Amino acid sequence: MSEDTVRVVSDATCTFCGCVCDDMVLTVDLQQHKITKSQNACVLGKAWFKEHSIEERPFALIGGREASTEEGIEAAAQILVNARFPIIYGLSDTTCEAQRVAVAIADMIGGNLDTTTSVCHGPSGIAFQGVGESTATLGEIKNRADLVIFWGGNPAEAHPRLFTRYAVTAKGMHVPQGRKDRTVVLVDVRRTASTPVADIFLQVKPRSDFEVLWALRALVKGKRVDPSIEQRTGISLAVLEDLVARMKSCQFGALLFGMGLTMNRGRHFNAGALLALATDLNEFTHFVAAPVRGHGNVTGADNVVSWQTGYPFGVNFSRGFPRFGPGEFTTVDVLSRGDADAAMIIASDPASNFPQPAIEHLKRIPVITLDPKTTITSQLAQVAFTTSTYGINTPGTVYRMDNVPITLRPAFESPYPGDEQILTGIRTRVHELLGGNRLPVDTSAASL
Ligand code: SF4
Repeated sequence: MSEDTVRVVSDATCTFCGCVCDDMVLTVDLQQHKITKSQNACVLGKAWFKEHSIEERPFALIGGREASTEEGIEAAAQILVNARFPIIYGLSDTTCEAQRVAVAIADMIGGNLDTTTSVCHGPSGIAFQGVGESTATLGEIKNRADLVIFWGGNPAEAHPRLFTRYAVTAKGMHVPQGRKDRTVVLVDVRRTASTPVADIFLQVKPRSDFEVLWALRALVKGKRVDPSIEQRTGISLAVLEDLVARMKSCQFGALLFGMGLTMNRGRHFNAGALLALATDLNEFTHFVAAPVRGHGNVTGADNVVSWQTGYPFGVNFSRGFPRFGPGEFTTVDVLSRGDADAAMIIASDPASNFPQPAIEHLKRIPVITLDPKTTITSQLAQVAFTTSTYGINTPGTVYRMDNVPITLRPAFESPYPGDEQILTGIRTRVHELLGGNRLPVDTSAASL
């Protein structure tokens, strides 16, 4: 094949998971609009690139009728401006540039803004505010960590290159022998594909993470813990004491936690206990704690929404200023209560995984979707835009799970516009429809 039909893109980025690996070497068949080879990608990344194709779809569908992007923008703007409680949701699989425009629209229309963080690491976001965060980049963990504790996650299947690129086998400046220089601990309620990687596996009883973390905190501070902790948690006092000794004597420890901790009984108390444990350990050595994030730019969503509103997710603008309300302004709750009267869903498919009452309400209200592919949510949308795929077709910025921003290097162009382009069109039209003003505050709105 000639250079006109094949392109090799180096240092491309995989946006399938929060590792956002930026060392991809992609071979692109420009005639077929397909990626034929994705060197350095893990099994999930290879599938992500392989399955990506430009589907022949209308630029937009309005009530099931084919329409142009411009017609879709007009219809979407009309829906948002005429709604009394519009919600904007998703945002974890799009660029920071698009996320920023979505926040501006939510502000203008006095709407509700939420991201998929509310159904994954939302409790961690709450815990960060309450407890603080002793953190590090993945590069620091790779170069320095000699004790790595994974809590409530299964990276072998969800983030395969976290082990090889950063936290287990990777060789680093102060851990030159990689795996041999590290002790790896896994804490979970069951054995998973990640368990064989660990030197020490702590199988905690379901819903007892908080008690284990609190016992560890007590032991770190030299307090007495009753041996009956074993009946409650499944972990003996001797094992906890051994772990505490390892944590206090390591050079650089890292606690990496997943949704097994945050979406469990205790939620933000669990995340808060783990963050507090890391803080306690800094009296003895250097210890960091960080969530392991799922979607490619969910960390970007947290950052962008936080810079713009002061809060990471679950933000409501109906009073003309941002209010943070997990449990109140988080999308599952807003929809399940039947509050919203219009929804714009960006790069997400809540109809495939939300609780049934929330899905039923989505079916009753006008929905706008932006997605590169047909999804269950886009099938019930009043206005469904076809978009290009971020990272593969669309340039921009994403944040890796450790809050490091990464510039995307797209592999090839798509005929479809990116999320940012469509959202900018909607923002402009909403602005015009509102006469250049933000939506006047309606004090009788259901949200108040
Ligand atoms: S670890 Fe995640 S970001 Fe890296 S190649 Fe695999 S799926 Fe892609």
